[in-house]
Amino acid sequence: MDAHKAQYEVIIIGGGFAGASAALTLGRLKRSVLMLDSGSPCNRYSDAVHNLLLSEGVSPNDAKDGFKKSLSGYPTVTCREDAAASLERGDGIWTIATASGAAFTALRVLFCTGLADRLPPVPGMEACWGKTVLHCPYCHGYEMRGTVGIATSSVDESLALASVLHSLGLKMVLFTAPAPELTESQARLVNKLGVLLTEGTLAALHHDHGKLRAVLLADGRQAALDYLYIGSVAVQHSDLPVRAGCELTDRNLIRINDFHETSVPGIFAAGDCCSTIRYASAAMASGNIAASFIHQDLCRSFAT
Ligand SMILES: Cc1cc2nc3c(=O)[nH]c(=O)nc-3n(C[C@H](O)[C@H](O)[C@H](O)COP(=O)(O)OP(=O)(O)OC[C@H]3O[C@@H](n4cnc5c(N)ncnc54)[C@H](O)[C@@H]3O)c2cc1C
Repeated sequence: MDAHKAQYEVIIIGGGFAGASAALTLGRLKRSVLMLDSGSPCNRYSDAVHNLLLSEGVSPNDAKDGFKKSLSGYPTVTCREDAAASLERGDGIWTIATASGAAFTALRVLFCTGLADRLPPVPGMEACWGKTVLHCPYCHGYEMRGTVGIATSSVDESLALASVLHSLGLKMVLFTAPAPELTESQARLVNKLGVLLTEGTLAALHHDHGKLRAVLLADGRQAALDYLYIGSVAVQHSDLPVRAGCELTDRNLIRINDFHETSVPGIFAAGDCCSTIRYASAAMASGNIAASFIHQDLCRSFAT
């Protein structure tokens, strides 16, 4: 197939902060773009997006409406609510089939598919996730009042989190199981931070519609809490990048080079799916930057 016969110059898979920002940049360069989005951004459990200049406190739904509004003025950008289901390459052109049965072709592909969080299998965890069970003090620390629990996989990790939370004036309870033998420096930090160490495994969360009230420990004790920080395990939201042959790093992120190119020529990635930094603002910047490199790549291939 003649490369110029592709329907689109770029197909963006994923229309969250990263994908929509990439679509904006490419739309402003008059590139023909299709953005496919399956409608499940990782922050959909939260009521508001924080630490985001110009849109501080916007709800994830309103953010999505804002993306559509921002892109609506660019006639070369098409947004479609649909999941990319498969990806094949032939004669320099990518063909993407979607869950709804449609198929589209493009010269370049940009994965902005994000991450999905695997929560500890504790009753109540899912209902509280993004509301009172949290993972990022920079996104959701400021609003917090009262007592916060910390339950990550290691004492060092929990203490690092406690150090970050310390300036917020919260009471902090650190859950460990079994009781750890603290090193001298860990014990000093526990004292300095005023952290209460509690031995116990979380068995369930008591909550009202996601508002945490207390945690129940495996031995039957309860601890009143307003918030809980956990170390969530994030995995690729979509298996399509791996099925397309993109290499992952040892942290399960899509491996990219300085130009946002993946290990597969013609496929780029941006946002959470390839970044250790998990902020809306970082994902937006990543989308803008990846789109600029895709534009340059298309300019180069036109010239040769
Ligand atoms: C609970 C929670 C709360 C957060 N709160 C904040 C906050 O307050 N402030 C902040 O700065 N950051 C916050 N973050 C982080 C922030 O939400 C992410 O960094 C940001 O959403 C990443 O943007 P993204 O576009 O890379 O991925 P996402 O926003 O996750 O978007 C990825 C999109 O790709 C789509 N997709 C996946 N696979 C396919 C496919 N095969 N076909 C089509 N579409 C597909 C998904 O449906 C989704 O819409 C939070 C994260 C979580 C988990």
